[in-house]
Amino acid sequence: MRVLLVEDETRLANAVRRGLEAEGFSVDVAADGKDGFWRASEGRYDAIVLDIMLPGMNGFRVCSALREAGHWTPILMLTAKDGELDEAEALDTGADDFLTKPFSFVVLTARLRALLRRGAPARPAVLTAGDLRLDPASHLAWRGDDELSLTAREFALLEFLMRKVGQVTSKTEILEHVWDPAYDGDSNIVEVYVGYLRRKVDVPYTRRAIQTVRGVGYRLAPDGG
Ligand code: CA
Repeated sequence: MRVLLVEDETRLANAVRRGLEAEGFSVDVAADGKDGFWRASEGRYDAIVLDIMLPGMNGFRVCSALREAGHWTPILMLTAKDGELDEAEALDTGADDFLTKPFSFVVLTARLRALLRRGAPARPAVLTAGDLRLDPASHLAWRGDDELSLTAREFALLEFLMRKVGQVTSKTEILEHVWDPAYDGDSNIVEVYVGYLRRKVDVPYTRRAIQTVRGVGYRLAPDGG
């Protein structure tokens, strides 16, 4: 198993590298964020141990840049003592686990083995509601086995409704998220687009996934209608 350790403190980096090697891992060390990012993006590692405080590019940025670029190698982030916010941010930026410094070596190896067992995390999940599915990454949507042919705006509207599946969303909320926040045109545009979407997603299948909640807004049925 090949591990990339991104850590600028030489002594700590060397100690961790030696320890992991003794456990049978093959370890490369990057001493700054940019080098860490480039090495990690070559995709040759089974896991990445990433410090937060790094010269060049901090660990949060390295982590989110890797995820944005579509690299899903498991990442264990090293956070500072008493850094509750660090931990939340580590997970928000796409880290799979975190470990607070100073850490015991036994715990580090145990966590790494657990991460490796789990393997690379899933790509951003495909959203589903019954037989209605939407993949934000590939920009494809399906009703059953049929691939839906949606315009960019229709896709964005369906994605928004599917992310809030089962909840009622107002026209204003939809306008803010699916249209430009500065859009100040007629809010009836939402109704118009809901109509377009229904004609592709519901009508041909005699279904009712996109429901109107009178006086409030719209709701996507969790069972796909
Ligand atoms: Ca550091």
